[in-house]
Amino acid sequence: LVSFILYQSNMGTNIRTLIYIFGDMLNSVGAAGKVFEYLDREPQISNKGTLQPETLTGHVHFHNLSFSYPTRQERKVLQGFSLELRPGQLTALVGPSGGGKSTCVSLLERFYQPQQGEILLDGQPLHSYQHHYLHRKVAMVGQEPVLFSGSIKDNIAYGLADCSLERVQEAARRANAHSFISQLEKGYDTDVGERGGQMSGGEKQRIAIARALIREPQVLILDEVTSAGFTQMFPLSQVQEALASCPSQTLLVIAHRLKTIERADQIVLIDQGTVLEQGTHQELMDRKGSYYKLRERLFTEDDTSH
Ligand code: ATP
Repeated sequence: LVSFILYQSNMGTNIRTLIYIFGDMLNSVGAAGKVFEYLDREPQISNKGTLQPETLTGHVHFHNLSFSYPTRQERKVLQGFSLELRPGQLTALVGPSGGGKSTCVSLLERFYQPQQGEILLDGQPLHSYQHHYLHRKVAMVGQEPVLFSGSIKDNIAYGLADCSLERVQEAARRANAHSFISQLEKGYDTDVGERGGQMSGGEKQRIAIARALIREPQVLILDEVTSAGFTQMFPLSQVQEALASCPSQTLLVIAHRLKTIERADQIVLIDQGTVLEQGTHQELMDRKGSYYKLRERLFTEDDTSH
């Protein structure tokens, strides 16, 4: 149960990973032996780390990573990938589909181990941290967070013993969820419905952000909601404002729409597994390079979806 609680904010990405793996397995179904090869594989990730420092700044350094998925070893998804995420800053990953944005996040969450290079957290390799400590300190809110049938309060406070309503409300305020929750007839006692079925995608994500924030992670990763109609509800700018009151937090966003991330401290354009460009929105616009062109290309599409 503890492990489920610690992992539940990562569920969206886990499910995505499982779907990929399952898809790959189905392709192999004609050769049943291959399925057993999967089952017999040694786990890639070792969980022997012991570090649990009392204070963590949340500085992340992707250092010269090269990575191929175990099921497609012939294809390098990341090559010579380097990037720093600084405490108190919002970094937005942008770029064409399949460029490698989600893969960076999967490596940061330690779903996989890079074949070359390493990811350092506060100067120490990720694998040297104690497993549950790491997943408490590095939280992920996916595009389709999993909510369980129960009240909004219980969903936010999930797994925390004796969590007061005030604490839940504070987290919801920071996630820009408090106002829509307050407008509901039963407020924080509203049942979210079976698997969150009675909530919109944007509302579910805001509840999931509150659930992540209440645990005070040092690094928070958001996968921006892409569904049309939810863009205006996406709380990125509000979350950014709220995080100003917590200046030490490192925020990483996988951005699917360029308009939502203009205020990011750092925009990183990833294509074919490398960092093509990085800088502030203004710097990248002035450079008139790939970001500028991508923005021009997506502008109409982006505009109509607002
Ligand atoms: P998008 O914007 O569409 O989400 P992305 O930039 O996040 O794309 P990734 O999801 O990181 O890109 O994918 C990078 C490449 O790795 C793609 O070619 C994708 O098909 C491949 N890939 C992603 N996940 C897996 C996996 N679990 N197994 C094998 N290949 C994968």
